[in-house]
Amino acid sequence: MDNEMSSTLKCAKCEQEFNKKELTIINENPYCHQCTMEFANEFIKIKSEQLSKKTKKTAVIKNKNWKNVLICLFFICMGLNAILIPQMINSLKGNKVIRKGVIKTDKQTDNCIKNLWQISRMLQEGKLPPGNLVCPVSKKVYLVKEDGENIIVFCPTPSRHGQGKFKQIKVSRSSPIPEVIE
Ligand SMILES: [Zn+2]
Ligand SMILES: [Zn+2]
Repeated sequence: MDNEMSSTLKCAKCEQEFNKKELTIINENPYCHQCTMEFANEFIKIKSEQLSKKTKKTAVIKNKNWKNVLICLFFICMGLNAILIPQMINSLKGNKVIRKGVIKTDKQTDNCIKNLWQISRMLQEGKLPPGNLVCPVSKKVYLVKEDGENIIVFCPTPSRHGQGKFKQIKVSRSSPIPEVIE
């Protein structure tokens, strides 16, 4: 209904119009792919500076070069659909849940999405979701589907979220930001 009225939304940062599906919600504001990446890169810079400070304490290293190497490494990781986005989310305080798309979600669905973030990190580390991680609504384990190189993990009971409007709640190795599909 209301998603037919406007299928596009402005990115909160660059203010360009994008299809809702292409946007990522961070702290309840929609961001386009590019701005999400910029956000992530900012975060990575801070992280890598923290890291290089730590290494300075433990070892004597040609400091400036080392920092650049770290930043480069982090950027390469980003290009490979990094482990870092889930890490970034873990470090964001509060209950705001980041996901793809701008569909409104309730608390239970947000909890399910939080589980998918945990799973996302495991997928990036080459692990499969543990059997004890269940959808908060149905208490059923997450469904794992292998698709060639990719692994997709689904909420087993999406129809029990969002008053039956949701068709899929999923995350995958190649697409590490959880997604809700109506
Ligand atoms: Zn933008
Ligand atoms: Zn669920």
